[in-house]
Amino acid sequence: MFIAYAPSGYILAKKLFRTGWPVSLRGALVISVIGALAPDFDLLYFYLVDQRQTHHHRYFSHWPVLWFGLILLFYAIRRLCGNEKLRAWAFGGVLFSAAGFLHLILDSMAGDIWWFAPFVDKPYALFTVPARFSPWWLNFFLHPSFLAEIAIWIWAIRIYRRKD
Ligand SMILES: [Zn+2]
Repeated sequence: MFIAYAPSGYILAKKLFRTGWPVSLRGALVISVIGALAPDFDLLYFYLVDQRQTHHHRYFSHWPVLWFGLILLFYAIRRLCGNEKLRAWAFGGVLFSAAGFLHLILDSMAGDIWWFAPFVDKPYALFTVPARFSPWWLNFFLHPSFLAEIAIWIWAIRIYRRKD
């Protein structure tokens, strides 16, 4: 997935948002969109430090156990903590982590995700994109799975236009 992370985070927050949340709709959208982009922040490490030696989906930042664990951790803080301010932050943490987890689901459509890392060293992908074109990213843009990215954008734009 390339271009649909931000709109996926937007859709997530818009669809889940309820009045009475400890964050405003605007705050929820910011948290969710940043969370949906967050796993790919590891590209900085990939390009600047690792010199593209390791597939960045192998980094712990793309491990589902991390994002699912964060959801559980923030949820536990939200449920068990008495401090109202901390509970509101934990709520934002749940939303952020859920958007990060959504990123991995979308990544797994046409790219390898090590769903059981670090316990099982095996990647899973719904579709395999064959390397036919150069540069490499053209393979993804010309693959039918890219239609899903366009569909997510159209969905997000429709939600935005309806203002609901
Ligand atoms: Zn990713």
